Amino acid sequence: DVRVRFAPSPTGHLHIGGARSALFNYLFARNRGGKFIVRIEDTDRQRNVARAEEKLLSSLRWLGVEWDESVDVGGDYGPYRSMDRVDIYQQYIDQLLEAGRAYECFCTTEELEKQREQQLSKGETPKYAGTCRHLTSEQKEQYREAGRSASIRFRVVEDRHYVVKDLIRGNVSFDSNGTGDFVIVRPDGAPTYNFAVTIDDHLMRISHVIRGDEHLSNTPRQLMIYEALGFEAPEFAHVALIFNEDRQKMSKRDESIVQFLEQYQDLGYLPEAMLNFLVLLGWAPEAEEEIFTKQQLIEQFSLSRISRSPSVFDREKLNWMNNHYMKQQPIERVVALCLPHLQAAGYASEEPTMDQLDWVTRLVSLYQEQLSYGAEIIELASLFFKDEIKYDEKATSVLSEEQASTVLKAFMDELQGTTEFNAEEIKQALKNTQKSTGLKGKALFMPVRVVTTGQTQGRDLNETISLLGKEAVVNRLNSFLS
Ligand code: GLU
Repeated sequence: DVRVRFAPSPTGHLHIGGARSALFNYLFARNRGGKFIVRIEDTDRQRNVARAEEKLLSSLRWLGVEWDESVDVGGDYGPYRSMDRVDIYQQYIDQLLEAGRAYECFCTTEELEKQREQQLSKGETPKYAGTCRHLTSEQKEQYREAGRSASIRFRVVEDRHYVVKDLIRGNVSFDSNGTGDFVIVRPDGAPTYNFAVTIDDHLMRISHVIRGDEHLSNTPRQLMIYEALGFEAPEFAHVALIFNEDRQKMSKRDESIVQFLEQYQDLGYLPEAMLNFLVLLGWAPEAEEEIFTKQQLIEQFSLSRISRSPSVFDREKLNWMNNHYMKQQPIERVVALCLPHLQAAGYASEEPTMDQLDWVTRLVSLYQEQLSYGAEIIELASLFFKDEIKYDEKATSVLSEEQASTVLKAFMDELQGTTEFNAEEIKQALKNTQKSTGLKGKALFMPVRVVTTGQTQGRDLNETISLLGKEAVVNRLNSFLS
């Protein structure tokens, strides 16, 4: 039976790379009729962040990645939080200690640091020197009396090759001599990641471990533990990194890229577009098609079509894709994505009246075709929110044409008679202007567009003018004509 897991550490928001791992696991589970588990790996207590677990789960939920077992819904293999499993780990620690496959280490942080520096200065790759490998009971007693507490280290077998049979990368072999005896329980009693993950994946009957490439170097340590405990190891699939557009590893610290799912949610992206975009970071369908529903992805997903080379995070492509989905949405949904941004900018009130909401809805409709994500409305519709219009070179040249003032004066006169100021009335006013001036086409529309919007191109002119409202339009005309 296929059982896979996403195992985030609660150290912050859900990162793009984590979201992709979660998605691959989810799609694989659904494709194979298996189970998808979300396990919280909170063993590194210093790095844990309050409420991170909640936020991770809520981002996954938003994305539409649904789990069968986890901290909130339970399951037959719980608990699903590492630090709630400390008692479970203890029996395996005892077993390893008894078999001599693990031992107590009393080295202090300072001593270990010193050891490391010495090795580095000799040009060696640092690894634990094995100082406490053969302590006698008396020596241990002395350390304890001196007030030292022990960590527990796994005893690595020398001169061994460990081969990770990776479903994406093929066979990757590691020499055990490169790995010093590593800590599996910290002096404070907390297990380390490499230990907990092995026990958990085994006890939770995980069949495939699908995770980021950055964990490949941990895998031999995990294989050593599987071997020492006589467990069968799961299959592994390590997914290549995601690069930023400069072909650098995407770093969580790089602020030029929006990295966390929650930020995309806040910016007004659609989860189904995000999901579609994320799956293509590393997975490729058989056909050239790029737009997929979740259901289609579930049907088509396979590990064999995951690339061995890094993928590139292309924000423009994401915007293109989100726009593709945006265009198909009912207007209410698009409004809901834009409204918070209009409100935050002070362009819509916090509790809009029906009339205001109606105006916002018309505004958003005007730009729905172009809109990549909700927050973009501020930029796209900026002409509505400016007190004063600045004309660029192109606009200035339109307005400097002789006929421009003729058109604009006539148009201004026509506006006097409007009452509703709706698109229909504007259309009529423009028609009348055409009749009275004898000018049509560009000669007629360009000056009107430029004076009212400051732009030489834009959305439907009648609706734009109507939405601007009589006062703003008359003001803009006046400031040009006077
Ligand atoms: N807790 C690890 C992380 O957040 C996950 C490692 C794994 O999937 O084995 O990176």
